[in-house]
Amino acid sequence: MSRSRTAPSGTRHGPRVCRDCGDPVHWWRNSRDTARWVLVGFSPDDKGTVQKVIGTDPDTGKRVPLALVLSGLDLAEAVADGRLLFPLHHTTCSARRRAEERSRT
Ligand SMILES: [Zn+2]
Repeated sequence: MSRSRTAPSGTRHGPRVCRDCGDPVHWWRNSRDTARWVLVGFSPDDKGTVQKVIGTDPDTGKRVPLALVLSGLDLAEAVADGRLLFPLHHTTCSARRRAEERSRT
């Protein structure tokens, strides 16, 4: 009965840590599908693919940061514009990668 969840209960917006590896991360909703949550590295870096955008939380109606996950031309344009981009945490989280190999859904 202790299955891992895709989103933490009682999420608050602000710095928190990855429950698997302990690194500081952001939990942002996916701007294209706000039912989904994206675990984003805490600091922007030059390999980032996630742009922080401001949108509306469907549960609270408040303005919150959302994760706009970029790829292809959108990503190239963002890099060319010098936008701050954050890495997807699962690309750097070794603990999470191990867990996904064990329980693939
Ligand atoms: Zn992690």
